[in-house]
Amino acid sequence: MTPREALKRYFGYDSFRPGQEEIVSALLAGRDALAIMPTGAGKSLCYQVPALLLPGLTLVISPLISLMQDQVKGLNAAGIHAAFINSSLTETQIARALDLAAEGSYKLVYVAPERLESPVFRSFAAGADISMVTVDEAHCISQWGQDFRPSYLKILDFIDSLPRRPIVSAFTATATREVKDDIVCTLRLHDPKVLVTGFDRPNLYFQVERTRRKDDFVIQYLRDHPGESGIIYCATRKNVDKLQELLTKYGFAATKYHAGLSAEARRKNQNDFIYDTAPVIVATNAFGMGIDKSNVRFVLHYNMPQSMENYYQEAGRAGRDGLPSQCVLLFSAQDVIINKFLLDKKDFAEMDDEEADLLRQRDLQRLQTMERYCQTTECLRNYILAYFGEHPTAPCGNCGSCNNDFDEVDMTDAAKWMINCVAELHGRYGKAILFGTLQGANRARLRELGAERFKSYGRMKDTPRETLERLLAQLLEDGYLVQSDDQYAVLHIGDIAPLKAGGQVLVKLPPQREPEQARAPKPKRRSPMDALTSAGLELFSQLRQLRFDTAQREGLPPYVVFGDKSL
Ligand code: ADP
Ligand code: MG
Repeated sequence: MTPREALKRYFGYDSFRPGQEEIVSALLAGRDALAIMPTGAGKSLCYQVPALLLPGLTLVISPLISLMQDQVKGLNAAGIHAAFINSSLTETQIARALDLAAEGSYKLVYVAPERLESPVFRSFAAGADISMVTVDEAHCISQWGQDFRPSYLKILDFIDSLPRRPIVSAFTATATREVKDDIVCTLRLHDPKVLVTGFDRPNLYFQVERTRRKDDFVIQYLRDHPGESGIIYCATRKNVDKLQELLTKYGFAATKYHAGLSAEARRKNQNDFIYDTAPVIVATNAFGMGIDKSNVRFVLHYNMPQSMENYYQEAGRAGRDGLPSQCVLLFSAQDVIINKFLLDKKDFAEMDDEEADLLRQRDLQRLQTMERYCQTTECLRNYILAYFGEHPTAPCGNCGSCNNDFDEVDMTDAAKWMINCVAELHGRYGKAILFGTLQGANRARLRELGAERFKSYGRMKDTPRETLERLLAQLLEDGYLVQSDDQYAVLHIGDIAPLKAGGQVLVKLPPQREPEQARAPKPKRRSPMDALTSAGLELFSQLRQLRFDTAQREGLPPYVVFGDKSL
């Protein structure tokens, strides 16, 4: 059977997608491979097709039980013998599965990385005919990756323990240099075929909406996109609960998902979403890995994620069917604070101090990069692609920035005020104090510092916060100001020579929109019903019915008077 025949026969597809065939051929020729392809590109087939055609067994190392189960279910449904071995099985079930695997009953066996160390598994592996070891979600091997899993580091030891070295292949959607290098080194891939497919997803429209009225935005968005399927990501479980409740109250069929729900509730809600019983799901980032729903039309981020990797992976769950889809990130300054708090809570207990510091610093840098995405007026797609190491040239014409005519405003005078103020803060403070001072809130502190002009600060009181943010972003970009990389993000003066020589500071500001013109205006008229919970609503509809019935019986006007408002 050729790879194409296997593709058709087992998976029902007529052709390979970009990159798939190259990886399949390399593996069938006995070469190691590393494939870096975006989420939804079809990495699974790249090892499943060779697994069918190689003589022995393929072991797939996968980080999540649910991922393994989904994959094995899919393979079995396609008539392929596959099994998984993980902690959801009893010892007896595992022993039986391993016996069957040793007899050659399976072409693919999925295992969690922790399992590789178990003596039972080792003795099975020593006697089995293993053709290939595949590492799925291989970025878990890298401390620079998103979801570092220490047990992924044991994979090499396992491979070395096998009587014959199998072909080794690795797959991930994380494309940064560090992660790629880590995978090749840590797995000690032999002259691997490395394939990186383009990261651009032309059918996705990117937009950043800077707003504090996020609930209003979401409600209006759902009204504008009736019946469409979408994911709304929130930073915390609490936000998920609150938003889902609100949407339900407004009559949207929205379910929810986070790690605080019981396994049963998660499964049910996930299925409701997948089968479109509830086309919208509100979720934390616990939701989505391994979810294969093709008709997701939008991914909204209610909060800014912690990194571009997270963002692109989550946003990338929109439009897997290739149809136009939207990825909208709702940003407010509060998001930075929430994320810093979440990072602070992150547990590095297993690591020594130096390592933990390094990781903390890396996290903060990532957060800053993410924040810059939210502030930039440049093409959003290009920002993303540049981050992932591609070099796009022209603006894409298909994102919020490209579709927005920003006004370029000369803010040279304000810039000088800001720079002076930073100077007088002596490199001890970050932007919160800076903005406060400029707006007149912290004169006392300036006086303590002995600043001469403290009385004059505060004259930017009426400048909107967003304008200050953009001015600061511009000064950082121009190098007139510098921000420290650590958690304090304190501001210093950079090289201001060009400004002294008469340079201008031009800041792009969003066009002033009248409130009615805002893209997601708040619901026009809030009915008093909005304030009621669903139980209250139910009660009211019964009351109304009763009132209607009575009214009809007694020949009264058919409406209910509630206080002075008719319902
Ligand atoms: P990834 O692991 O890269 O995120 P998956 O392997 O889960 O992506 O594949 C995503 C979807 O693309 C799946 O529904 C899969 O069946 C589909 N797919 C993969 N390869 C092809 C192909 N050659 N033709 C059509 N659909 C494909
Ligand atoms: Mg995958």
